[in-house]
Amino acid sequence: MSLEALIEYEQQQIGERQALPERYLGVSEDELDARISAARAALGDRLVILGHHYQRDEVFKYADHSGDSYNLARAAAAHTDAEFIVFCGVHFMAESADVLSAPHQRVFLPDLAAGCSMADMAAPDELERCWQELQAMGAADVVPVTYMNSAAAIKAFCGREGGVVCTSSNAEATFSWAWARGEQILFLPDEHLGRNTAYATGVPLEAMAVWDPQQPMGGLTRAQVATARIILWKGHCSVHTRFSVAQIEEVRRTEPGVRVIVHPECTWDVVRAADESGSTGAIIRQVRKSPVGSVWAIGTEIHLVNRLATELAPDRTVLTLDALGCLCSTMFRVSPNHLCWVLESLIAGDTPNQIVVPDEHKDWTRIALDRMLSIQ
Ligand code: SF4
Repeated sequence: MSLEALIEYEQQQIGERQALPERYLGVSEDELDARISAARAALGDRLVILGHHYQRDEVFKYADHSGDSYNLARAAAAHTDAEFIVFCGVHFMAESADVLSAPHQRVFLPDLAAGCSMADMAAPDELERCWQELQAMGAADVVPVTYMNSAAAIKAFCGREGGVVCTSSNAEATFSWAWARGEQILFLPDEHLGRNTAYATGVPLEAMAVWDPQQPMGGLTRAQVATARIILWKGHCSVHTRFSVAQIEEVRRTEPGVRVIVHPECTWDVVRAADESGSTGAIIRQVRKSPVGSVWAIGTEIHLVNRLATELAPDRTVLTLDALGCLCSTMFRVSPNHLCWVLESLIAGDTPNQIVVPDEHKDWTRIALDRMLSIQ
């Protein structure tokens, strides 16, 4: 694919961004840098900017704290001094920050179009129906566990029904927590993280069932539900499911001695074919502690891979598994222009793009998130 075709492809993937006032369009990089720096200085301790690892460099460089969704949730809960939390990430992360922050704090997402296609695969009404149908099929001792990458209403449901939230950093410990409280787990919305985690804890594939929310009774029989240790919601990450076993075989052929590490949102066969798998935090730690000169091929979002190659582990050779560079298009929607607009608006006394979780969901979401934070 030519560079022009690649740019066009990425533009199609990114889709519509939130429209900005005219004066924020066509601004040079230098001017944006000067204005964002001035706005940060003016807001001082009233502001904290959180940046997810998948953010592009032009935005990531302004983060006071960076990390995966788990670390950023902790940072949001810890920063009780800042009045404004600007979350450079996607919508579900900002929702969690709103729930975990103190009442005097407000959370902002620079571009409201920065969602997550995986989180959108589990709607609250689908989950309510699933829960009722599982009970009708005789599954009475199920603990609902939702991945951080889900809407606040889904997290609230899990909190209310004795369940919990997990991240890719603490998924195994969370599954142990859940199985100590019930016979079966309903895990949503990422079937691959669920399958990979359950398998790593010793559950065979035959003891897993996939619940398709588009099908009556999830497309499962009573017997399939009864014999499952874990019921996996049929959802996926459009970025991580692009990695393939063929890519791993190819890099092993061209880079003898390469170590392959992938995110557990990749499919089961890809995780099996890799040398290791882990959350973004675990990927960073593994590569950084490897001997200087090591060669790594990485199956996760391209901005983190590039940052590893250039800043975090420059003495290792770091390659992406996907030649097209697996971009999270919704993360990419957060631009320095959007960040500048939000910061300057805050200085002017406006509060655009504030993320507020409705009161009806807030308490149960907090309970589910607090349970998550208590599980290491
Ligand atoms: S990488 Fe996947 S799971 Fe993460 S925000 Fe993007 S679409 Fe959602």
